[in-house]
Amino acid sequence: APEKEKTSSVAKIKVVVRKRPLNKKEIAKKEDDIITIEPSSNSLTVYETKLKVDLTEYLEKHEFVFDAVLDENVSNEEVYRETVEPIVPAIFQRTKATCFAYGQTGSGKTYTMQPLPLKASQDILRLMHHTYRNQGFHLFVSFFEIYGGKLFDLLNDRKKLCMREDGKQKVCIVGLQEYRVSSIETIKELIEKGNATRSTGTTGANEESSRSHAILQLAIKKSVDGNESKPARIAGKLSFIDLAGSERGADTTDNDKQTRIEGAEINKSLLALKECIRALDNDQVHIPFRGSKLTEVLRDSFVGDSRTVMISCISPNSGSCEHTLNTLRYADRVK
Ligand code: ADP
Ligand code: MG
Repeated sequence: APEKEKTSSVAKIKVVVRKRPLNKKEIAKKEDDIITIEPSSNSLTVYETKLKVDLTEYLEKHEFVFDAVLDENVSNEEVYRETVEPIVPAIFQRTKATCFAYGQTGSGKTYTMQPLPLKASQDILRLMHHTYRNQGFHLFVSFFEIYGGKLFDLLNDRKKLCMREDGKQKVCIVGLQEYRVSSIETIKELIEKGNATRSTGTTGANEESSRSHAILQLAIKKSVDGNESKPARIAGKLSFIDLAGSERGADTTDNDKQTRIEGAEINKSLLALKECIRALDNDQVHIPFRGSKLTEVLRDSFVGDSRTVMISCISPNSGSCEHTLNTLRYADRVK
């Protein structure tokens, strides 16, 4: 709404759609690209093939408008500029910001998400060394995943973690490794380590990662009264969340019981997330974060001065039409 935009230069909730290019497999199968993007009007159109009763084909058009629409030629650098870069300075003012990648498996969530924390860290460190020089700020990195409703530390051999609440809107993940970092090289190593831990998972099957939410957090802490050895107070936080494949929430009819349980958990968390973001957007006092582990973990990022960016990733091929429409409808309802 235009009135909300007047009160702050950066919108509280921003929904961005990113389309990836057709891949080799899809081209070999002669699949069509069924999505057109119109950046000037922030709109996109999906052309769905349907059958008439006499079995002749026709195209049904579905048009959507978002805060930004990014086509297959947009680079990761431009994605950063459009999504996370504008909110980085605010985290020095105690803002909690969250960036989600949502979409079906194979739509480009990880491709989109992986470079963002590194670029953000670069900007954070630059601000620390210049604008906020000698003000006692320190940067911390943690990286964990939620799998089947349980928490695992991706920077500590997938150690199982538990969550505790302090009753004052603060969440504490007991035992989570937090690394204090001062160079881009160290951050890069940690991110790579976490990603490797994630994708190999317990069984080594790459499919595992599509069933988990990966959460990388950059926290800025300020030392109290110039006590450099004890940076205690969290100033701001920036969370990057590579969500489980949105289609996994439909696994509730799968033959395998474990898969059904995990599917139900994913479904629950994505629904709860949508409800929380909508509540935030409506400035509701009560945010329903208790709906899932994911939203509980993010509780302190949903209260106070918060910013949310949702990047909805979509595949362009005709075979993904149904999932693509589901993703766009989800993004539409978040807004
Ligand atoms: P997801 O994490 O949603 O399952 P990935 O990020 O792993 O999907 O992307 C699937 C494949 O598509 C990967 O091989 C990735 O490199 C490629 N890909 C995704 N997005 C893009 C893009 N915008 N440009 C080029 N390749 C992409
Ligand atoms: Mg992925």
